This record gives sequence, structure tokens and C-alpha cells, in this order.
Amino acid sequence: MSEVICKRCLIEKIDPLGILETVRKRVELIPKEEKVSDEEYFHRLEACTACKELNLGMCNLCGCFVEYRAAHTDMHCPGSEKKW
Ligand code: SF4
Repeated sequence: MSEVICKRCLIEKIDPLGILETVRKRVELIPKEEKVSDEEYFHRLEACTACKELNLGMCNLCGCFVEYRAAHTDMHCPGSEKKW
């Protein structure tokens, strides 16, 4: 049985343009003091994968790849509910 891909998948799962490696490299380049903890990163991505605004790894509200945006301490969920 093939894996189901839906609009709430992170790019980690679908990687439509082969950009996961690029995103991960950019996350690695974020200075440690500007990067959230692994626990907080997981929490944020969990919120995104449960959110109706996630669309193939990108947030419909800001256009960011959430796996990149969620790694920054100074970036937050752009939704009115501020999920993180
Ligand atoms: S609105 Fe917030 S929780 Fe939803 S996908 Fe965008 S960043 Fe993630």
C-alpha cells in the first residue's frame, strides 16, 4: 500500500521539489541563540501538521515553509490563534 500524501504533510514527508535538504541546511545555519529547542521545534511542527492552513509544507498565511519558520525564536505562527 502506498503512503497517503495530503496537504497537511510536512515537506519532510512529501518533498515535492526536492527542497528538504536545502531547508535543513538553512535551519543549520541559524545561530544557536536564535534557534528554538528541539522540543519546541517538535511542538511547533506538530501544531502545523494539525492546522488547516498547512499546504504541502507551506503555511497558507505567510507562505513560509513551516520547517524553516518554526526553527526561529523570533518567528511565530501568523494565524490569529497564534498556535506557537
Ligand atoms: S497558521 Fe500557524 S500553525 Fe497553521 S500552518 Fe501556519 S504557522 Fe503552522
